This record gives sequence, C-alpha cells and structure tokens, in this order.
Amino acid sequence: MLSLLAQQVTSLGPALLRPAAIPLLHALQRGFACSAAAHQASAEPQPAEEVPPNRRFAARGGFDFATAAPQTPAEVPEVVGSVHSIESFSAVDGPGVRFLVFVQGCGLRCVFCSNPDTWHMARGKLTSSKDLAKKLERVKPYLSQGDHKGGITISGGEPLLQPEFTASVLMEAHTRGLTTCIDTTGQGMKHSHWDKVLPHLDYALFCIKSPIPEKYEWITKRKIGPALGFVDELERRQIPYWLRYVMLPGKTDQPEDVAALIQFCRNKRSMQAIEVLPYHLLGVEKWASEGKEYPLTGMSSPSAEEVNAFLAPLKEAGIPVLCNKFNREEEE
Ligand code: SF4
Repeated sequence: MLSLLAQQVTSLGPALLRPAAIPLLHALQRGFACSAAAHQASAEPQPAEEVPPNRRFAARGGFDFATAAPQTPAEVPEVVGSVHSIESFSAVDGPGVRFLVFVQGCGLRCVFCSNPDTWHMARGKLTSSKDLAKKLERVKPYLSQGDHKGGITISGGEPLLQPEFTASVLMEAHTRGLTTCIDTTGQGMKHSHWDKVLPHLDYALFCIKSPIPEKYEWITKRKIGPALGFVDELERRQIPYWLRYVMLPGKTDQPEDVAALIQFCRNKRSMQAIEVLPYHLLGVEKWASEGKEYPLTGMSSPSAEEVNAFLAPLKEAGIPVLCNKFNREEEE
C-alpha cells in the first residue's frame, strides 16, 4: 500500500493569495532580507536567551510564534511562503509516512547540492499555509497509519529562513494530531528564526555537512558557527534529531572526518542516530540547467565496500547509524 502511495507525487497548484495575507507576505520578505544579511555577517552562534514568560502574544498586535500553542486549526494564523514543490508521501524524511513540503530559499551554496533551483526565494510559488493545510487534511488518513505517527516534514531550501510560514504550517499539522519535522542546516538566528519554529517541532533532520570548520566552509561557502549554535539549541530544547552527513569520496570520508564525527556525536543527548548519505550524481544536470559549473565534476559515488568501511568505526563507537543506500538491513 505504501509503495503505491509513495508513487502518488503531486505538485502544488497555483497559490491562492488572500488579501489579508499580503501584509504578512511583505513582512516575511522584509524579515528574510534582514535575516539573510545578518546570517552572512554573523559567523558565530547566537547566545542562548530565554523567552520571558510574559511575552505571550506581546509582539505589537502580532502573533507571537515563540509562545503560541494553538489548539485548533482556526487559531493558526495564515502566512504566505515561497514554496518549491510538495510530495504527498515520503517514507524516508522522518518517522512514519510524511507529507513533504520543499520551501524555496537557501543561504548555503553546497558543492554537492541536488537542488540549486531552490536557492533563490523569489523563484518559488507564493503559497498560503491554509492552502497547504487543506492538502494535508486530505492525506491525513494515510499519514496516521502504522506504528510510527506520521506527519509533515518541511525541507528545502532551508525551512528556517521562512520562520513564520514554517511555524504556521507546523502548527496546522499539530492541531490535526500529526507530528512535525524539518530537514535543516540550522540557518538563521536564534530570536528571529529558531525561537519561532522550534516550539512547534517534534523532530529535526539536521545536516552537519562537516564538523571540521575548514571543510564545512569549503562545502557550504559559509562559516560553521551558526550550525553549531543551532545544534546546541536542539540539545537545549531536547528536540530529537537525526544527524545527516554526506559522504564525499576522498573529501569527507577520511580518517580525520570519522574522528571528527565521533567527537561531534559525543554528549549529544537528543541525537537519535547519524544518517550517512553516500554522494550521488542526481543533482548534476540541475547545475547545468541553472547555467552553473558543477563543482564536483569527476567525482563518483562510493562503492558499497567504501560506505561500509566508513560506517564501521561509527558503529564501533556506539553511534546508531542509518544508511539507506543499499538496504535497510544495514540499519542499526
Ligand atoms: S543546504 Fe541544502 S539546499 Fe542549501 S545549498 Fe546545501 S544542499 Fe543545497
């Protein structure tokens, strides 16, 4: 049944823009412009600060995403976001069966990016959170089946760069009894981004790229500081997450990489597992169609032996390892 459902990939129809949502969109775009600039200027994690308990709905006539806990869909505000596409069913992007939303816009420039067409936020479809909620409502019976409670996963692009939109969509899922997850690299800043989204999050898929600062910078063209700050925030809030790691042959599969990963995983109490994603060539043609030169020309996917050799010391260190490339029996 699930394999049949998984084939029913739908694309998002034209967004309905309600007049009441336009001011929210403009605020979102202003917020993104500011936060993107701040993100590039800041290489260091933001200091952790608590949200004062008396700040509930205190934000000048607005909705306080950091403290809101709506109980019904009607209490969730409508926010317009920039969306790339949706998939009605995914079995590999968090627990259970997931409704998958790919948002548009990313501040990193990863050398192995499979979706360079998601980098620029202005290229997405303007989409109302309420319209997404209607689609979610239609597939909800299929997401709630099985041992794992399924739900929604927001991927990208980077979901944290549209914090009000992402938070609203997650709240729509929560008020319908579904679980929430984001696939993220921890972009944005604590107060303007993370504090609005994380209160509405059950799980995260967090891609570290590389725990070695120089390699992180080579891969993403950004400093590692904000990503480290974000994982600290996940830990502080005790949000369960899978650590994702892309294994690039000859680049991020060396003994120093394994040692740095094992060190990184130490004392990470909320980390459930590390998911190793062996490098693949699926994104190469997209770079060409975007008119961009592919940075990893000549690199091949690793063999099963190379992947297993990379996984072995992680397993020996007692880290739960997932790797879906070859078969699920590899999982621990
Ligand atoms: S974070 Fe993801 S979407 Fe952004 S550049 Fe890296 S791989 Fe691409």
